[in-house]
Amino acid sequence: MFVVKKEIKGNDYYYLRESKREKGKVVAKTIAYLGKSKKEAEKKAKEYKLNPKQETMEEKPTEKKKLTIDEIANFCKRKGFVYPSAEIYGGLAGFWDYGPIGSELKNNIKAQWWKQHIHAREDIVGIDGAIITNPKVWEASGHVENFTDIAVVCKKCKNKFKVDEQELATAKCDKCGSDVESKGKFVPMFTTQVGPIEEDSTLAYLRPETAQLIFTNFKLVQENARMKLPFGIAQIGKAFRNEIAPRNFIFRVRELEQMEIEYFIDPDKKEECPYEIEDIEIKLLSSDMQEKNEEPVPMKILDALSKKIIQLPWHAYWLSSSLNWFRSLGANMENFRIRQHLKDEKSHYSTDTWDLEYKFPFGWKELQGIADRGTYDLSQHEKNSGKDLKIMNNETGKKILPMVVAEPSFGVERAFLVFMNEAYTENEKGNVVLKLNPKLAPIKAAIFPLVKKDGKLVSIAKEIHKDLRQEWNVLYDATGSVGRRYARNDEIGTPFCITVDSDSIEKQDVTIRNRDNGKQKRIKISKLKDTLRKLLSGETKFKNI
Ligand code: ATP
Repeated sequence: MFVVKKEIKGNDYYYLRESKREKGKVVAKTIAYLGKSKKEAEKKAKEYKLNPKQETMEEKPTEKKKLTIDEIANFCKRKGFVYPSAEIYGGLAGFWDYGPIGSELKNNIKAQWWKQHIHAREDIVGIDGAIITNPKVWEASGHVENFTDIAVVCKKCKNKFKVDEQELATAKCDKCGSDVESKGKFVPMFTTQVGPIEEDSTLAYLRPETAQLIFTNFKLVQENARMKLPFGIAQIGKAFRNEIAPRNFIFRVRELEQMEIEYFIDPDKKEECPYEIEDIEIKLLSSDMQEKNEEPVPMKILDALSKKIIQLPWHAYWLSSSLNWFRSLGANMENFRIRQHLKDEKSHYSTDTWDLEYKFPFGWKELQGIADRGTYDLSQHEKNSGKDLKIMNNETGKKILPMVVAEPSFGVERAFLVFMNEAYTENEKGNVVLKLNPKLAPIKAAIFPLVKKDGKLVSIAKEIHKDLRQEWNVLYDATGSVGRRYARNDEIGTPFCITVDSDSIEKQDVTIRNRDNGKQKRIKISKLKDTLRKLLSGETKFKNI
C-alpha cells in the first residue's frame, strides 16, 4: 500500500493505493481517500494499515437488534420515515404523516403487493373506490348496526382500550392486569356531512374498510373485466376507524390504508382450488388449541389441511400465499404464526377464519385477517339495493351468487412495521444497517464522487445519477467522508452505493458496494444500469457480478 498525492484545481488530495497482480499484470487501485494534507494522510494510512476494516473493506456481518416500539418510532422520525401528524401543533392521536423516505417505502410495499396479487395473475383485477359513498352501503353491510366496539376503562390505572363482546366478561387491563369497567358500545365510524348547506346535507361515513366498494361494484367489474369464477377483486386504499385507544406507533391508527382482496368462487366448488399450495411450515394455533390453552405448534400448511384443521384447500392456499408474500420480501417466517378464530369469534356465515399474526415488539398481534365471508355481503347488497348481483355460470348456464371463500385483508401500516422490524440490524460499530429487500428500499442506489471538489469525478457521478434517475429513485451524495456517506445510506436501507474515483476517469468504471456485507466490486459504467436492474429484481446476486 502506498500514499499518492493528486493535484486537482490547485488543491492537493491524498489517496491510499495498492498494487496487485491481476492476469499477469501489476495494477494499482485506489482503496481509500486520505484527506487534503500530508499529515492527515499519513495518520489515516497508518490507521488503515492497523485496522483495515474501513470504507473499502468488507465489513463484519450485522446483528439483528431487538427493538421496542418506541425505538422504532424514534428511528422512523429521525430518518424521515414517519412523523406524528402536524407535530408543530402537538399532533393528533392515531394520525401519522410519512416523510420523504417513509412515503417511498410505503409506496413500494403497496406496489409489490399490487404486482404480486394483480399484475402477476390472471384471476384478480384491481379497483379504486371512493372513501365516502352512499351511506346505505354501510347499513346493508351491517356496519351501522354491528360494527361496534366496547370501550373499557381500567378501574385502577384508567387505561382505555377496546374489547370484543365475547371478551368483555373476562377482560382485564392490558397494561396493569386490573379489573375494567365497561363504558358501553360505540360505532367506530367517522361521520361527515355531504353538501355544504346543513338542511340539504346527508349524513355520510368515512369508509371503515375498503371491502364494501368491491361488493357494490362486483357486477360491473365482473362484466368489464370479463372475469370467470374463480376470480378476485382487489383494492388498496384509505380507511378510517375512530379507535378508542390508538397505540403502539402505527400499529393501531385512526386513518389507515388497507390492502384487500375479495376472492369469489362458485359455492358448489368449495373444495376445488386449482392453484398449487406452497407447503410452508408455520406456527399454528387452532381454535381447539386455544380452548385447551395450548401453545402453537410448527406445522406444514398441507399437513394442517389434510388433518382438517384448515377446513378448505382455498383457505390453505390463501394462508400460504399471504405468508409467501412476506417471505419473498425477506421476512423471517419464525416471526409469523397463523391463528384460527374461535367459534364465537367468527361470523355465523363463515366456514373458517384465520388471522396471520406477527411477533411485534409488544407481542403477537393480528397482522392480517383471512375471512371466509360466504355469500353474506353480496346477498345483503342484493336485498338492500334491489339489484340482481348474480352472474352467469358458463358451465351450467345458470345464474349464481358467488361466495367469498377468502378475504385476505391487511393494513399497510402493519406491513410497514413488519418490514422495519425485520430489516433493522446494527453493525459492529453500532451503526444501523436497514436490510430492506431491494424491491422495498426507498432509495435504490446512492452515487458519490470520491472527492467532491474534483470536477471530473463530479461530472461522471452526476451523469450516472441522471441516467439511473430515469428508472429508479436514486440519490447523489457528495457530503462528508465516503464512510459517512455509506453509513447514512445503510441507515435508510439503500442497497447499493456507487463511487466514482480517480480510476473511473481512465477506465470508465466505478465501485459498487453491497449494503449487506460491505463488499465492493468494480464495474464498467456501460454495464451499470443493466447490472443494477438484475440486482434489484433479485435475478443476480452481488457475489455473481
Ligand atoms: P384489530 O382486532 O386489530 O382491531 P380487526 O380485526 O378489527 O383488527 P379487520 O377489520 O379484520 O381488523 O381489518 C383488517 C386489517 O386491517 C387488520 O388485520 C389490520 O391489518 C388492519 N387494521 C384494522 N384496524 C386497524 C387500525 N386501527 N390500525 C391499523 N391497521 C388496522
